[in-house]
This record gives sequence, C-alpha cells and structure tokens, in this order.
Amino acid sequence: MEEADCIVVGAGVVGLAIARELARSGREVLIVEAESAVGTGVSSRNSEVIHAGIYYPTGLVKTHLCTEGRVQLYAFCADYRIPHRRCGKILVATTDHEIAKLEAIKAQGNANGVDDLRWLSAAEACALEPELTCVRALLSPSTGIIDSHAFILALQGDAESHGAMVAFQTPVVGGGIENGRLVIETGGADPMRIAARTVVNAAGLGAQHLALAIKGVPAETVPLLHLAKGNYFALATRAPFSHLIYPMPVAGGLGVHLTLDLAGRARFGPDVEWIDAIDYSVDPARCASFYPAIRAYWPNLPDGALAPDYCGIRPKIERPGGSTTDFMIAGPQTHGLPGLFNLFGIESPGLTASLAIGRLLASLAN
Ligand SMILES: Cc1cc2nc3c(=O)[nH]c(=O)nc-3n(C[C@H](O)[C@H](O)[C@H](O)COP(=O)(O)OP(=O)(O)OC[C@H]3O[C@@H](n4cnc5c(N)ncnc54)[C@H](O)[C@@H]3O)c2cc1C
Repeated sequence: MEEADCIVVGAGVVGLAIARELARSGREVLIVEAESAVGTGVSSRNSEVIHAGIYYPTGLVKTHLCTEGRVQLYAFCADYRIPHRRCGKILVATTDHEIAKLEAIKAQGNANGVDDLRWLSAAEACALEPELTCVRALLSPSTGIIDSHAFILALQGDAESHGAMVAFQTPVVGGGIENGRLVIETGGADPMRIAARTVVNAAGLGAQHLALAIKGVPAETVPLLHLAKGNYFALATRAPFSHLIYPMPVAGGLGVHLTLDLAGRARFGPDVEWIDAIDYSVDPARCASFYPAIRAYWPNLPDGALAPDYCGIRPKIERPGGSTTDFMIAGPQTHGLPGLFNLFGIESPGLTASLAIGRLLASLAN
C-alpha cells in the first residue's frame, strides 16, 4: 500500500485551488485526475465570469465564498499576470414589472456586501451601451472576465512549486477505512491503493459517484446529482457592447445573458436544459428561444446572427424547479469517515469562489 498525506481527487479549478492551498500550508499533496490534462471538466465549459456575488441569499456558504473569492481572484490575477478584465456588467429591467425584481436584486447584493452597485436610468444605460434597450438598469463595476485556462494552469504551477504532484489518467474507483486509516483505490493502467490522512473529493460531476464508491459513506449524506445543461450561442459578428449584459434571472440560471471573452467575442447563454445523462452536444433548434430573450434588451439582434457554440453542465443538487441550494462540503461530522471531505453541487460561482474554497478546505483539513 502506498502512503500519502493529502489526496485531492479532481484537477478542476476547485481541486487545484484546494491542492494549492494545502501545499502552501506545508502539506504533501497528490492530485489524482481521471483525464490526461487539468481543467477538462466543468471548469472548461463555463462563462469565465468573475461574479460580484449579488444574487445568492445572504448566509449561504456560496455567498461569502463568492464575495471573498472574487477579491482573492482579482489579486491572484494581478500577482500571476492572468489575463482578465474588470469590464463590469449591466443588469437590465426591460419592463416596468421587472423594476421591482431589479430592486430586490440590488437589496440582495447590498446585503451580501456588494456595495458598488449603481442605478442607471434608461438614458444613462443607453449612454454606456447605445444598442441597449431597458427601462432601468443596475451597473455592477466589480464583475469581470478571466482567462480561466490561464488561471487553472497558474494554480497547477503554484501547487507544484509547493511540492504537489498530479497523477493523470488515474481515476479513483473506491476506498474506505482500513485499520482506522482512510484508503483510496485508483484504477487506470497502474491501479494503486493509497492510505491518506486527508482525502478531498473535488470530482465535480463525478463527486456523487465517487462518494458512494467509498465504503462507509452513508448514502443519505450524498445528495442526488441533477444535471442542468447550459447551452451557449455565439454571435458571428463583433458585439456592439463593452459590458456584460444580464436580464432578470430565471429558475436554475441567470437568464440568457451576453458574455464577452477577452478577445471581444460575444456569446449568449447559458440557458437551462435539465438532462438525464452527460451530453455535450448543442441542439441548434434551441436558438429559437434565444432570439426573443436577447431582443428584449437588444432589439437590433439581426436574424441568423447566432450559431451553436458549446455547453457546460451544472452539477446541481437541487431538483428541477427547486430553490437555490448551497455548495455542500461534507466532512467527517457529516459522514463519519475521518479525513474525508466530499464537495457536492459546486456549480456557479465555483470559478469565482475557487480560491476561497481552497482556503476553507485547507483550514478544515488542517
Ligand atoms: C454552464 C456553466 C457556466 C458557469 N459559469 C461560471 C462563471 O461564469 N463564473 C463562475 O464563477 N462559475 C461558473 N460556473 C461554475 C464553475 O465552472 C464550476 O463551479 C467549477 O468549474 C467547478 O470546478 P470543479 O473543479 O469542482 O469541477 P471540474 O472542473 O469538473 O473538475 C472535476 C475533475 O474531477 C475529475 N474526476 C471526476 N471523477 C473522478 C474520479 N473518480 N477520479 C479522478 N478524477 C475524477 C474530472 O475529470 C474533472 O477534471 C459555471 C458552470 C457551468 C456549468
């Protein structure tokens, strides 16, 4: 049997942020990843937005992890020269009826400590974004965009420079307690059994499957996984916007919004499509619902301007139509296995919150 101090399962943005923080605190860390590269899961299929932390109910763990994580992420981007832009986002009410919703969003943001939100009249919004139509708007200056791949590589590099190692093509297939010690079993070409003091299950869409494969983890401590696909459609031409534009949120998502990447390319989405099995195809027919949703705030969107782009899958732990759930970090007090931490439901804003999640896990594990 091999021995390790800490094992982090999953080399997505969250697993790498945790591994980095553990390594920086002096722990020996082995990251085990089923695929042959870092960041190929949920972390490679998102909007790359640095969220301010406006929408989430105050008191949820994800709320303060987002607001703290956002501050830490901007500082990290500056320190490690990660391409990013604090471009700001404009939330729009496109009908009088939506103004009350926008007021509620502002109140929620303020309650979460997001204190830079600014009201814009329709004329002020139009002065910032001449193509925009709305009756009232809210500017969030601290929302931004990031090159998530560069961020992931920097996390890996920093973790490795503090002694962490990554084992690729090493799926964890099971584990349990043996002689009072936590042991995990890996598959792949070179199966191993490794005893570890700390094991962090940051397997994203695979977290539930893995937790249930570890003997002794009570099934009732593992929430059901619900897959909510988010499809994106790209704009063939350059977008006439310099801010991200968000309509009112919808059940399960933030509404069909406009995001920009650092090269200025625009995409719309993600929508919410509940699915039963992982499937990364984008159905071109779904753009039928995108055109009216976008034209509510950008009436000049030309016919035929949208092309199917990519999609991501949210690892939700709420049922379709259920109310917002929190990130779930289930440690020994939840399941009884010493040293094991299972992370479930790390959907948006997991990218923004990743550094704060890393710090939290390192403090729990240490
Ligand atoms: C459509 C969409 C848009 C989003 N937009 C944003 C956004 O704009 N801003 C934001 O802050 N957040 C956003 N998010 C959320 C963010 O992308 C995720 O919270 C984050 O990427 C989750 O990272 P992770 O490391 O937990 O998961 P992953 O990146 O999926 O990493 C998990 C890793 O575990 C590996 N793995 C799985 N099972 C095993 C196993 N048994 N053994 C070994 N390895 C295993 C996988 O191969 C994978 O590499 C979005 C998410 C989605 C789906």
